[in-house]
Amino acid sequence: MSDLTVHNKASYTKQRKYKSGALKLSKKDLLTVTEHAPDVICRFDKNCRLLYVNPAIEVATGIPVNSFINKTTRELGMPEEHSTNWEEKISFVVRTGEQTTLEFPFLTPNGLRFFHTVLVPEFTEEGGIESILTVSRDITEKKKRDKEKEETVGFVSHELRTPVTSLKLTTQMLQQKLAKVSDKRITEHLARMNQQLDKMTNIISDLLDTTRIEHGSMKLQKKRFNFNELVKETVEDIQKTAPSHNIVIKGEAKIPAYGDRNRVAQVLTNLICNAIRYSPINSEIIVAVSSDSKNIICRVRDFGIGIPDEQQKKIFERFYRVKDIKHDEHMGLGLGLFISNEIIKLHNGMIWVKSESTKGSTFSFTLPAL
Ligand code: ADP
Repeated sequence: MSDLTVHNKASYTKQRKYKSGALKLSKKDLLTVTEHAPDVICRFDKNCRLLYVNPAIEVATGIPVNSFINKTTRELGMPEEHSTNWEEKISFVVRTGEQTTLEFPFLTPNGLRFFHTVLVPEFTEEGGIESILTVSRDITEKKKRDKEKEETVGFVSHELRTPVTSLKLTTQMLQQKLAKVSDKRITEHLARMNQQLDKMTNIISDLLDTTRIEHGSMKLQKKRFNFNELVKETVEDIQKTAPSHNIVIKGEAKIPAYGDRNRVAQVLTNLICNAIRYSPINSEIIVAVSSDSKNIICRVRDFGIGIPDEQQKKIFERFYRVKDIKHDEHMGLGLGLFISNEIIKLHNGMIWVKSESTKGSTFSFTLPAL
């Protein structure tokens, strides 16, 4: 699909100048390509009216090509929510001259189908936007497979939770019973078992949280709470288990927080643990808290390996791990930041990162007041 896309006005104009001769010569060939393409290719005017659609639409929807021409998505019977999405995406392309993407369901005589669409601006010789080209792929089968995978992950993590909890309790019981035994090796083995079980418990709860997020069933228990106390408790707990780093709190919030205290603690814990994981031993980690009249702002700063520029946007995606030799030294599933982002979004806050390779990273989030 990417060959058909034009990223922005500058690259389009460059390509157009370079290729215009060739394009004129091969108009007939181009038409043959679009007429035989397996993806649905459409051209919209700026008012969301369909000017052209290729025959693939007939295969995808079971509806003849002619029924689409000169119609808007609304006139085609697309529900309000999805028509609005289309209108917003088209007006984004017209306003910015940038390409964008969209996913939407469409009820066809063959049942409900799902499509992924790339919307690309088409420019006039003068540089104005003439129309919008869209390339849509039927992703119904992929969506079904993804759903099955997610359900399996959800089911397996759920089934693993009970035996791991029981192993953890047994290990703790053995640790207590054998506390007086002076065999150092036994106590070390048990401590290691306990540590590994904690790691497994964390992985399972991250997978369960991810399933909840995907099903839209992560529920928050929102209340007022003292954010400064939460920061102090979280930092103290982590500092006990990580004497390798010096965690410093700076500033305070002048307004109470409103949200799910446990979930906000989960976000803060994840950011501080990442800061520890990705920065050198004996370095400092700063947790800076402040507030204005509307938001609490919390920043976690480390002086570690940092994140390469081009990957900073992606680290909040599900299962994304930075591709870099320094990052490979650390194991992880790439779920912590995805979950943190979702938790902050459910609070109507924002989360972002500023980072420089080898200099360190600052993760910040806001929590809007009530
Ligand atoms: P993981 O469990 O893999 O750490 P996260 O979702 O918490 O998953 O983080 C995603 C990726 O972002 C990590 O794999 C790591 O490469 C990068 N990352 C997160 N926090 C930091 C940090 N403070 N410094 C450098 N890289 C980080």
